[in-house]
Amino acid sequence: SKELGGNQFNFYVTEMNQRTERRMLLESKLRDALSKQAFTLCYQPKWNTQSLRIAGVEALIRWFDPEEGFISPAEFIPLAEDCGLIGEIDDWVARQACRDILSLYEGAEPELSLAVNLSPALFVNEDVYRRIAGTLEQTGFPAHKLELEVTETLVVSEVASVHEQLSKIRQLGVEIAIDDFGVAYSSLSRLKQLPLNTLKIDRSFIQDIGSDQDDEVIVRTIIDMAHNLNLKVVAEGVETEQQYQFVKRHHCNLVQGYLFSKPVPLAELARLLQQQSCS
Ligand code: C2E
Ligand code: CA
Ligand code: CA
Ligand code: CA
Repeated sequence: SKELGGNQFNFYVTEMNQRTERRMLLESKLRDALSKQAFTLCYQPKWNTQSLRIAGVEALIRWFDPEEGFISPAEFIPLAEDCGLIGEIDDWVARQACRDILSLYEGAEPELSLAVNLSPALFVNEDVYRRIAGTLEQTGFPAHKLELEVTETLVVSEVASVHEQLSKIRQLGVEIAIDDFGVAYSSLSRLKQLPLNTLKIDRSFIQDIGSDQDDEVIVRTIIDMAHNLNLKVVAEGVETEQQYQFVKRHHCNLVQGYLFSKPVPLAELARLLQQQSCS
């Protein structure tokens, strides 16, 4: 058994080394990708449940590495946060997305609202306002058509200046959405304090509509609570007709998910919008 323990130990060490190696490899690839502008963007529409029209899109980053293939943002965004590259990445995403959407409208005011994800890590250095103001200035994108998605972890974070930073961003006219809502247990009083516009219900609750009554109660409760706080509600990760009918019946404002569309390249988004304006 002593020997077995030893083997197990070696196994863990090997696994740890492999993970460290992967991280180091990805970190150097990430720096390289940034300098070579090797990222692209996809856009996932959000549909208004009343008008059944596309009301907005969310920009999602994509990274294709010639050796590794597609690397998921779920893997490299946390890494970018750890090694201090997230600011540059999120700045690039916001700038590129603003330019992309403006190009669809040939410089005229976009009918869509554009959401970009913003890492909560950026709030620690208190320069989020400057970054966003800079993006608007550089691109000429109308502030009231821009929305920032920040995860619920920011709401519960200890960073003292979060309220002030969000307020300054709101004063620009930019909207704030709380992403992945329901998993970080933020308190109602904290939610009420912050200058928010939208809650996005986490996919994990939407997934179990139809099979888990507890989750149905949670979804209904979040929608009611959000509306009482004058917030719009988005259901993310809607994959089935049943899930859609449920959130629509409970007056969820917007839906997003594979049932309607996966995240698509800009040209494909342009086609979706074209189809819509013809129907
Ligand atoms: P998120 O912001 O919660 O984005 C939703 C994720 O769910 C996206 O994954 C999207 O492709 C996926 N999704 C959308 N509809 C469905 C559905 O119906 N079913 C399922 N199973 N999945 C669906 P993606 O693009 O891989 O992004 C993963 C996460 O990485 C995002 O979660 C976000 O937290 C982060 N991320 C992506 N792009 C950026 C970025 O530009 N900046 C930052 N800071 N984070 C980003
Ligand atoms: Ca998001
Ligand atoms: Ca989300
Ligand atoms: Ca999520």
